[in-house]
Amino acid sequence: MNSAEKLCLACGLCCDGTLFDNVRLGPRDDAPALKALGLPVEVTRGRTPVTLFRQPCAALCADRTCRVYADRPGQCRAFECGVFKDAQAGRIAFATALRSVKNARRKADTIRRLLRQLGDTDEHRSLGDRFRRTQRRLESGDPDAAAGAAFAKLGLAVHQFNLLAHEKFHTRAEAP
Ligand code: SF4
Ligand code: SF4
Repeated sequence: MNSAEKLCLACGLCCDGTLFDNVRLGPRDDAPALKALGLPVEVTRGRTPVTLFRQPCAALCADRTCRVYADRPGQCRAFECGVFKDAQAGRIAFATALRSVKNARRKADTIRRLLRQLGDTDEHRSLGDRFRRTQRRLESGDPDAAAGAAFAKLGLAVHQFNLLAHEKFHTRAEAP
């Protein structure tokens, strides 16, 4: 295992619902086989149905390995974040890449802490889903001062994370 691969084991952000809400399956992916492996594959309703499974990924293990690595979908195979690419190509040192990953994880943890403070404890949903749901709930209600202050902090934390993700990790077009 090389240093860039070790980086992923210290990270997991592209599988745990932090960077992405879901993994979309393509025509070459075997949806029934992935379902049989325990991934909650579904087809979305609407004009253009999409076959996907939601993150945090059910195949992500506690040690951040992928339980279905040999059979993972094409988009998981294709995705490499900017930090990984830079480390793999030797453009940045492994220690620098690790610092970026740890910084991103810290920022994501701040978002999770604020979401919990605001009453969203659903760790089985992606960070993006949880933020949007909390935003809808608070904006349609009449939050007290403490909730209003926590929501302001949450908005700032999400904004800062999105800037970092955009700069160092991904563009939406690369989503697995
Ligand atoms: S976000 Fe990058 S460093 Fe983190 S697990 Fe995914 S590819 Fe690896
Ligand atoms: S299938 Fe594996 S690589 Fe793909 S999101 Fe899940 S844990 Fe990550």
